Amino acid sequence: MASTTLEDEKKQSSGKRVAVVGAGVSGLAAAYKLKSRGLKVTVFEAEGRAGGKLRSVSDQGLIWDEGANTMTESEKEVRTLLDDLGLRDKQQFPISQNKRYIVRNGKPVLLPTNPIALITSHILSVQSKFHIILEPFLWKRSECSKKCDNNTHESVRGFFQRHFGKEVVDYLIDPFVAGSSAGDPDSLSAQYSFPELWNLEKRFGSIIAGAIQEKLFAKREKSEDGKSAQEKRKYRRGSFSFLNGMQTLTDTLCKELGEDNLKLESKVLSLSYVHDEKLENWSISHASKGDKHSQDSHYDAVIMTAPLCNVKEMKITRDRNLFPLDFIPEVRYMPLSIIITTFKKENVRRPLEGFGVLVPSKEGQNGLKTLGTLFSSTMFPDRAPNDLYLYTSFVGGSRNTELAKASAEDLKHIVTSDLRQLLGVEGEPTFMNHFYWSKAFPLYGRNYNAVLEAIERMEKNLPGFFYAGNHRGGLAVGKAIASGCKAADLVISYLESSSDDSCNYFFMTPDSRRPVVSDPKTRNPCYFCFVMDPRTSIEATEGETAEKEIKEDERH
Ligand SMILES: Cc1cc2nc3c(=O)[nH]c(=O)nc-3n(C[C@H](O)[C@H](O)[C@H](O)COP(=O)(O)OP(=O)(O)OC[C@H]3O[C@@H](n4cnc5c(N)ncnc54)[C@H](O)[C@@H]3O)c2cc1C
Repeated sequence: MASTTLEDEKKQSSGKRVAVVGAGVSGLAAAYKLKSRGLKVTVFEAEGRAGGKLRSVSDQGLIWDEGANTMTESEKEVRTLLDDLGLRDKQQFPISQNKRYIVRNGKPVLLPTNPIALITSHILSVQSKFHIILEPFLWKRSECSKKCDNNTHESVRGFFQRHFGKEVVDYLIDPFVAGSSAGDPDSLSAQYSFPELWNLEKRFGSIIAGAIQEKLFAKREKSEDGKSAQEKRKYRRGSFSFLNGMQTLTDTLCKELGEDNLKLESKVLSLSYVHDEKLENWSISHASKGDKHSQDSHYDAVIMTAPLCNVKEMKITRDRNLFPLDFIPEVRYMPLSIIITTFKKENVRRPLEGFGVLVPSKEGQNGLKTLGTLFSSTMFPDRAPNDLYLYTSFVGGSRNTELAKASAEDLKHIVTSDLRQLLGVEGEPTFMNHFYWSKAFPLYGRNYNAVLEAIERMEKNLPGFFYAGNHRGGLAVGKAIASGCKAADLVISYLESSSDDSCNYFFMTPDSRRPVVSDPKTRNPCYFCFVMDPRTSIEATEGETAEKEIKEDERH
């Protein structure tokens, strides 16, 4: 097959219009990618600001984040985006990023960063340390793949307890999931919260043995591939933010998109797809300030990034018939309060260097109520004047949904009391700010497969409709960006194939796990699981039917 260049792509796509719903990081990343490929993009955002869960504030000489505080660039889509946006100069890496603390017996204990440090640390009992050391010998692949298949709804607690014992769950996993998703090990699904580890168990039985083998394999691959080694040198590992906070990323994306392509205060109410002899397109109706309703037509595709609870409220029609959304299950969302405090340095008796401290739920018995605190100005000294420490504390989540809604005054007392115990702060904070998220994170609960099935069902039945964002594939900023970029790629392929009118879409059926060809416009009757890059796939001749299976050997 002749390879398609970026210029060809741009020519084929020019004139096509795409609507993106939601100006969070996933929607903006998708829109940016589409625009840079020559497509016309309009982003609809319900709020008066873009950024979604990225929300930075500068006030009184302080800089803080009320949403995500840091991100990583493990996904190649993130690395490409940061390069393309010219954001490398604005990346800020925390000082002493490997120094992270967990509370044990009411006191912060440094989290070990390697196996030797774990064995010598006091964070776990001798019995748990033995449990970890013996894990590779206690697990056999066949035994375990049976366990995995029987336990697709297994909780995070069940999964880690089988491998490492209860104490590891209580003191390492519990604070980690609270800090990264505001969830708890009993409610979260192991398969959807830790997909990499879940797959390691499937393949190797032991998580530790599997991780070592994967690492060795990756090392071998990298040393064979000079380019990867170069890449590794270029990118720094670990978490980072940007000068002026995380919102610098979404602000830069908005600037690149241009004001005209971003409609703020435009809450999407309904979407309608029509395909007849005369026209084939999407129209979008939205409410703007003052409840004024407007209709925008002639979009060739839609990328939806609004949370599913908002999608459920929308009205979607296909060929003038209502497309009911009652199959979308109720998603549970975690409420969370973010409390920013500053203290005079002289009033903090035991300040800690590093990233922050996480509080296991068991430590509630020692009077601690926060989920954790980030040492924001220790990580990034420009976030506060020299004589102050700025802290970002989290309260609520599934551990304490009621407390998340407490008043600012009550939350100030809770945070001050925890910081007094953990860091020795004295007196009242010199500054305090409170931000409440009623739906901070969707919970990847034990029935999360129903959510993913609902997303796939929308995509399968609505031509040119794609879903991206943190309800699919991970909660982290990097995962949301990757999800947006992947959706943009799918839109580009979809529009290319519809302008070609050739059937170069390939799908994996769940039963055969082999690709079948499908009509790119209707996508019937395939399963929307996997689309091959049309530039590398075999070209299907016109008229090939959707059900025609491609023989395995034809692919090579
Ligand atoms: C307090 C907090 C701390 C976090 N910390 C971190 C962290 O340190 N590191 C990390 O990697 N991740 C973190 N996360 C997670 C991460 O920030 C999010 O998962 C990610 O930013 C979500 O991006 P998104 O684009 O998928 O969704 P969102 O940011 O939720 O964007 C969706 C957008 O859709 C809009 N919308 C909704 N309905 C409509 C409608 N009808 N019409 C138009 N627009 C609509 C919303 O207003 C919103 O702007 C944190 C999240 C929170 C809340």
